[in-house]
Amino acid sequence: VRTDRPVFDVRAVELMDFRTPQPADGLSFGYVLPLGSHEALVEYTEFSPRTLTADGYESAVRQYADEVLRLGEARIVATETGVIPMTDAPMPRQVGASVFRIGAAGGATRPASGYTFAGVQRQTRAVASALRQGRRPAPPVPHSARSRAMDAVLLRALDSGRVDGPALFCRLFARVPTGRLLRFLDGRTRLYEDLSIGLRTPAGPMLRSAVELPWLPRRPFD
Ligand SMILES: Cc1cc2nc3c(=O)[nH]c(=O)nc-3n(C[C@H](O)[C@H](O)[C@H](O)COP(=O)(O)OP(=O)(O)OC[C@H]3O[C@@H](n4cnc5c(N)ncnc54)[C@H](O)[C@@H]3O)c2cc1C
Repeated sequence: VRTDRPVFDVRAVELMDFRTPQPADGLSFGYVLPLGSHEALVEYTEFSPRTLTADGYESAVRQYADEVLRLGEARIVATETGVIPMTDAPMPRQVGASVFRIGAAGGATRPASGYTFAGVQRQTRAVASALRQGRRPAPPVPHSARSRAMDAVLLRALDSGRVDGPALFCRLFARVPTGRLLRFLDGRTRLYEDLSIGLRTPAGPMLRSAVELPWLPRRPFD
C-alpha cells in the first residue's frame, strides 16, 4: 500500500501482530514490512484448516489496514495471496529417477511457522555442493529432527485447541530474547536454547500433545 500520510517507521517491522480479530478455528495475525514512510507490504495471515475465499482474505487485510493500523487514505499498489502447507507430514524429495524437489514442495517449510526461505537456502547449498563433487544431488531435509518434533507438538497443541495460539506466541515474543526466537523460527538454535524456549510454553497442554503424537494416524501429504 502507499499512504497519503507518513505512517510507517522504516526501522521497524511488525511480525505476528495479533490485534486482528481471531477466527473461531485457528489463529490470525498481521505483518507490516515498511519500504518507506509512505509505503509498506501489509499482510494478513490465518492458520486455518481450510482456505478462506478470495473476498474473505481481501476484507480481512482491509480491516487490518483500516481498523488496526489506521492507515487513513491508502492506495493498493499490488496484491498477492498464497497458501503454505503447515504440516508435519513427510514430503517426498525424489519423485523420479532424476527428479528432485526442493522448497515448499520438498519439505523446506518449517511446519509450525511456515518459514521456508532458510530451508530452501540450505537445500540449494547442499545440491550445489553435491553437483560440484559429482555426487547425486539429493536435497536434504533442511530442518533437524528436533525442530520437526517440536513443531509437530506445537501444531498438535494448536490444532486440538489446547493452547491459545496468540497468547502462546505473544508470551514467547515477550519472554524469549528476539534474536534467539528468530533463530529458533529459522531452525538455527542449540539444544539448550530450544529447551529454554520450550519452558516458556504451557507445559501441560504441550506435554499432552507430545505424548499422544506417536499414536495419531498418519497419511502422506497430497
Ligand atoms: C503470503 C506468504 C508469505 C510468506 N512469507 C514467508 C516469509 O516471510 N518467510 C519465509 O521463509 N517463507 C514465507 N512464505 C513461505 C513461502 O511459500 C516460501 O518461502 C517460498 O515462496 C517457497 O518457495 P518455493 O519456490 O519452494 O515455492 P513457490 O514460491 O510456491 O514456487 C513454486 C512454483 O512452482 C509452480 N508450480 C507448481 N506446480 C507446478 C507444476 N506441476 N509444474 C510447473 N510449475 C509448478 C507454482 O506455480 C509456483 O510458481 C510465505 C508464503 C506466503 C504464501
